[in-house]
Amino acid sequence: MSSRRQFIKQSVMGAASLGLITDLVQGQPKPVAGTPIVISTWDFGVPANQAAWDVLTRNGRALDAVEAGVKVAEADLSNPTVGKGGYPDRDGFVSLDACIMDEEGNCGSVAALEHISHPISVARMVMEKTPHVMLVGEGALQFALENGFTKEDLLTPSSKQAWEEWLKEKKYKPIMNIENKSFNTERLPGNQYNHDTIGMLALDAFGNLSGACTTSGMAFKMRGRVGDSPIIGAGLYVDNEIGGATSTGVGEEVIRTVGSFLVVELMRQGYSPEEACKEAVQRIVKKKPDTAKEIQVGFLALNKKGEYGSYALQSGFSYAVCNQEKQDLILKGKHIF
Ligand code: ASP
Repeated sequence: MSSRRQFIKQSVMGAASLGLITDLVQGQPKPVAGTPIVISTWDFGVPANQAAWDVLTRNGRALDAVEAGVKVAEADLSNPTVGKGGYPDRDGFVSLDACIMDEEGNCGSVAALEHISHPISVARMVMEKTPHVMLVGEGALQFALENGFTKEDLLTPSSKQAWEEWLKEKKYKPIMNIENKSFNTERLPGNQYNHDTIGMLALDAFGNLSGACTTSGMAFKMRGRVGDSPIIGAGLYVDNEIGGATSTGVGEEVIRTVGSFLVVELMRQGYSPEEACKEAVQRIVKKKPDTAKEIQVGFLALNKKGEYGSYALQSGFSYAVCNQEKQDLILKGKHIF
């Protein structure tokens, strides 16, 4: 690194850690207290956050950070809930959902996308290269292939094995907190191992927020089923004046309550990130008390000041935090039941 860049980086880090808001040379970030920071859902957010952190500490944009971060989870073949290696639908097709949102309110999304291992990058391209927000299925695949992505078989031998196991009973029931089991050491029978998503929120050294969310959705879902993760306002929402929120868990309930948008709007009214996430899960309980007892939904939020929090329906939800103090923190989400 050149000594000038090194100097600027150290100045930024130093200013940020002192909590100062300082104007540097024109064109350089104005460090904001509490920045940079990146948070993401579940324990597998730790390595993802670290990739995002590399971008943030080089004074990169939050948008670049969240894309780089969630790509780590998408590329992890041992993670059966995101990207390549994600469990297929009930007919054996791996179909992925993802969305991304930047500090200007631009957003892009793909749903039911097959054969492409980094749906988040296709979502970003939808945002940046088309007049649309969302592309789905065949059209999303065509767009990806036209823009340089390569067609791949996303069904790994172990995902295929889990699906074949599931086919023996063909039960479809999301099991909560299966995610507590280690992916690598404990493969569960196909009808139990179920869902998760990486949702990531970052605040960069310029004080700008972005978010990304990517998943293979509920394992063994109906063909064509799309959850909350690629839906702007449900699985992810960012308002650069206020904060951002993302979700994981049974997407149908998050869509019904427009969960992430709700969390951001509650923060606008003065709720802390944790209070806002709590109110959002309470809405699910209020609307569907019986269902709520049996499913997992977790929200994660980050506000403009770099404060963060989460709340889930059930115990077992975890999230990863990466900031100046610590790059591999895992916290347990508070919960209703
Ligand atoms: N929210 C995802 C979906 O419904 C799954 C999850 O995060 O557990 O597709």
